[in-house]
Amino acid sequence: MDWRADRRIRWHCVGDVDVADHESDIVILGGGSGGYAAALRSAELGKSVVLVEKDKVGGTCLHRGCIPTKALLHAGEIADATRESAQFGVNATFEGIDMAGVHKYKDAVVSKNHKGLQGLIASRGITTIEGEGRLVGPRTVAVGGDTFTGTNLILATGSYSRTLPGLDVDGRRVITSEHALQLDHVPASAVILGGGVIGVEFASAWKSFGTDVTIVEALPHLVPLEDEANSKLLERAFRRRGINFKLNARFAGVKPTDSGVHVSLEDGSTIDAELLLVAVGRGPVSADLGYEQQGIRLERGFVIVDEYCRTGVEGVYAVGDLIPTLQLAHLGFAEGILVAEHIAGLPVTPIDMAGVPRITYSSPEVASVGLTETQAVERLGADRVTTVTYDLSGNGRSAILQTRGAVKLVAEIDGPVLGIHIVGDRVGELIAEAQLIYNWEALPAEVAQLIHPHPTQSEAIGEAHLLLAGKPLHVHD
Ligand SMILES: Cc1cc2nc3c(=O)[nH]c(=O)nc-3n(C[C@H](O)[C@H](O)[C@H](O)COP(=O)(O)OP(=O)(O)OC[C@H]3O[C@@H](n4cnc5c(N)ncnc54)[C@H](O)[C@@H]3O)c2cc1C
Repeated sequence: MDWRADRRIRWHCVGDVDVADHESDIVILGGGSGGYAAALRSAELGKSVVLVEKDKVGGTCLHRGCIPTKALLHAGEIADATRESAQFGVNATFEGIDMAGVHKYKDAVVSKNHKGLQGLIASRGITTIEGEGRLVGPRTVAVGGDTFTGTNLILATGSYSRTLPGLDVDGRRVITSEHALQLDHVPASAVILGGGVIGVEFASAWKSFGTDVTIVEALPHLVPLEDEANSKLLERAFRRRGINFKLNARFAGVKPTDSGVHVSLEDGSTIDAELLLVAVGRGPVSADLGYEQQGIRLERGFVIVDEYCRTGVEGVYAVGDLIPTLQLAHLGFAEGILVAEHIAGLPVTPIDMAGVPRITYSSPEVASVGLTETQAVERLGADRVTTVTYDLSGNGRSAILQTRGAVKLVAEIDGPVLGIHIVGDRVGELIAEAQLIYNWEALPAEVAQLIHPHPTQSEAIGEAHLLLAGKPLHVHD
């Protein structure tokens, strides 16, 4: 469909320049996970859609986030499997990492997905405008000499890698995840500032490639948003893998040296390494885009929205990393779909943020959904919360894979499952079932009825629920 044929285009003069005003049902600023999901669903619902993107559709997730990092981690998994092949009776020799080869593989995956996405967007009749957009009216975006006005406007400009005050990223010795994804060699050593998801994933991949890694985390645990049991299992596994980490450790400063960086911490200790990766979180891309001028409320740069992602300015919504919800691609998709359906007048249910599945794709993986034990106790009181932990040592498939970890369940006593927390290689795939259990407010006895195929790691979910329902199977007394 060529929307230009049946939409109004008005021309007027600004100074000596002819400016075209394009009108459509929906204008979306930013073509990442949140923006393009809103575009696809809106087009499906019969709306004319303009998607403004200054770089490449797919955004951070496809080009600088989820997909390339998981490709690096998979290459790391193959490196580890090669090194450890003798324990499976396979003769193979690990000869090193060919970084050019890793990039070729990673970039091919990204490129294939990018082409697929471009085709999908075009096939739905969405008009993509290449260029940097800025709000110049309540629902009007200017790109170059053109303006695009929507009956509704969706802001989806995403996020950028943050740094700390006084810590300058030079892209060579002090880098962010964007630079880390482009490194043309395996660093001999690295300090990673921040033990959240991104820091932990790079620590895992680099260690697999042969880097001597030290994570510096200001909070008491790695992946500090996780249930403490998950954090402790990851820390134990990282210790076994020889990944160094300093907890409760605050960064004081970094100086360049002949061979890299000299990092000092507030406790007076220092670490020398080839480079420093700054992974202290991501901030919203909202500065100088005309948001505040149009009455959009920002807090710490995030666009403030209600449960339907409405900004408070008539007809204007915001989704994805730009709003203060979990910074996850699949949440961006869900928010984009929710907004598209809300605009189309369909009945929509606000997203239960605790019900959004979370995965850290390190080795081992950390996966969770629902409430941590601490959150459940805060909400219900300690006397109404129970937990069980099923160790993966009882799971045949995990023994075959030679991975360790556990499934921890948090539940209301005589009530539904409130949280599922898992650690182990490949357990990220288990969170799909876990999120059904949480989001359908399943009772332990109901899940215990379900039959899990043998031998799979999914049996560990079944076993944990059998245990919680009071009829443990493969569990020692
Ligand atoms: C290293 C890393 C690993 C990650 N791994 C995962 C993972 O495994 N799983 C997961 O769920 N999430 C992961 N994430 C998070 C995920 O990438 C984000 O949550 C997701 O991309 C957010 O989508 P978004 O649409 O809000 O923003 P973005 O994807 O950042 O998209 C915003 C888009 O807007 C465009 N834009 C910005 N300003 C303008 C403007 N003025 N005009 C036109 N266009 C503009 C940008 O070019 C960009 O394409 C990871 C992130 C990083 C950095």
